[in-house]
Amino acid sequence: MTANCAVIVAKDEEEALILSEEAILKGAQALEFRLDAFPVIPGDLSFLAYGVPSVATLRSPLDEERKEIFLRALASGAKYIDIESDSVLRNQFPKEQVICSYHDFEKTPAEDEILTIFKDLQSSGIPKAAFMVRGPADLLAVWNAASVLRETGSPFILIGMGAAGEITRLRSSDLGSMLNYCALRPELASAPGQITLEESVRLGTDPQVTAVIGYPLTHTSSPEIHNAAFKAAKIPGRYVKIPSAPEELSLIPDVIKKYRITGMNVTIPHKESIIPFLKRVDPLAESAGAVNTIRNSPAALEGYNTDILGIAASLASVDADPKGAEVLIIGAGGAAKAAAAYLKAAGAHLSITNRTHSRAETLARRFGARVVRTGELSPDYTIILNATPAGMSGFEDRSPVPNTIFTKDTVVMDMIYYPEITPLLAAAKAAGVRACINGKTMLIEQAAASFTLWTGIIPDRDVMRKAFEERAA
Ligand code: NAP
Repeated sequence: MTANCAVIVAKDEEEALILSEEAILKGAQALEFRLDAFPVIPGDLSFLAYGVPSVATLRSPLDEERKEIFLRALASGAKYIDIESDSVLRNQFPKEQVICSYHDFEKTPAEDEILTIFKDLQSSGIPKAAFMVRGPADLLAVWNAASVLRETGSPFILIGMGAAGEITRLRSSDLGSMLNYCALRPELASAPGQITLEESVRLGTDPQVTAVIGYPLTHTSSPEIHNAAFKAAKIPGRYVKIPSAPEELSLIPDVIKKYRITGMNVTIPHKESIIPFLKRVDPLAESAGAVNTIRNSPAALEGYNTDILGIAASLASVDADPKGAEVLIIGAGGAAKAAAAYLKAAGAHLSITNRTHSRAETLARRFGARVVRTGELSPDYTIILNATPAGMSGFEDRSPVPNTIFTKDTVVMDMIYYPEITPLLAAAKAAGVRACINGKTMLIEQAAASFTLWTGIIPDRDVMRKAFEERAA
C-alpha cells in the first residue's frame, strides 16, 4: 500500500515537532525529514521517532560527517535513511534501512534504462527514482517500468516530477510506489509537481483524473477552473496538464487507459489531429472537424466539441436566437469552424470574413456560407461573432471590423476574454448595439459541459468563474 509521506522542512527541533504534529493530524502516514534544511543539524534527533515511520534525508555535508549523522538518525528512531546513488555511503548501512535514491531533473529515460537504474539502486536498499516527465512517452515509460517492478514484489519508490508528472503522484497506488511524497503546505513543496498532503488525503487512493493536452500548453486556466469545480462538487478528482508534442499524440489512448483518465480537454494544435485516435465522434464535433473533449467511456474513447456548447450558451445568455438570423463570423480557424458548425445547424444564414481570404472561402464552402472581404462589410448582421485573437492582450489594439457595421439590433460576441472589453466590444457598445458578450461565458460553459460529460454532474459555474478570475488577476 502506498503511504502519504509528508516532507518536513524545519529550521530547528521545535519546529520539526510542530510540523510533524500538523502532518499527522492532516493524515500523513510517513514523514520525511530534510535534515539538510536545518541551518544547524540538531543534537537531539528524537523528533524522528514521532509515531509514524520516518525517513532522514541529508544531501549536503561531507561523507564522514554525514555517516555520523545517519547513525544518530537511525539510533534516534528513523526507520530509513535516504542516500543518493552516487554516494560511497550507500553500501555502509543495513539494506533494509536504506532508501537508495536517484534523481534526473532533466528527463525520463526509456523503460529499459529505468529498470537498469532500479537494479543498481536495489543492491543498496529500497530503490527510489524521480524523473522529470515531459509528456506522454515519459508517462508510459514510468508506467511500464513500474509494472515490471511490481512483479518483483519488492518495495520501490517511483516518481514523475514536473507538471506533466503530477499524474504519477495521483496514481502512485496503481504504480505500486511505497511512498507518495507530499508538501505539508503549498509553499513548502520540495520537488516540482509535488501536491499537498491535504489534497492527497482529500483525493484518496483512487481519484478521478481529468487532463488537458496541447502543445506547448503554457497559458491555460483550465486546471484552476476544473479543480475548483471538483472541490465544490465534493468529488475526489483532479485535473492535470499533459503537454503533448504532435509526434506523441498517438500515445494518448494508451496514457488514458493506463492512468485511468476519465476524460481530456484537447487544445491547440491537436483539436483536429486527435480525431483518428477516437472510436466515436459526436455529430456536431464531426461537422466542426474538431474535438476539444475526450470521454473515456467503457465502450470506447469518444470525442465531443464543448466549444460549440459554449458558443450556444453565450448567445442564449443574451437572447440571441441564431435561427434565421444573418450572422457574421470573423475568422476561419478552429473556433470559427466550431461556430459555423453550430450556427449552420441552428438555422443561421452565415457570412464569413477573414484576414486570409482563401481560408474564409474554404470554410464558407464547407458550410454553405457567403464570403465577404473585411473592407466591403455593411450593416447587414444581427449577430457578429469574433473568432480571431485580434484585440486580445498582446495583439494589435484594434477592432477586426469597421465600426460602420453595427446597428441597434446587433448582438456582438467576442471569443476573447482578456481584456474583458475588447476594441470590438468597445466600438459595438459605443454604437449602441443590443447586446455585447465576451469569451468568458464561452470558456466557463465549455468547461462546465466537459465536466458534466466526465462526471455526470452539473458543476457550480460561479465557483468556476471565480477560479478563473482569481487566476487572471
Ligand atoms: P486559430 O485556429 O489559430 O485561428 C485564428 C484565426 O484568427 C484565423 O482565422 C486567423 O486568420 C485569425 N487571426 C489571427 N491573428 C489575427 C490578427 N492579428 N488579425 C486578424 N485576424 C487574425 O485559433 P482559434 O482556435 O480559432 O482561436 C481564435 C480565437 O478564439 C482566439 O483568440 C482564442 O483565444 C479564442 N477562443 C476562445 C475560446 C473561449 O472559450 N472563449 C475558445 C476557443 C477559442 P488567418 O487565417 O489569416 O491566419
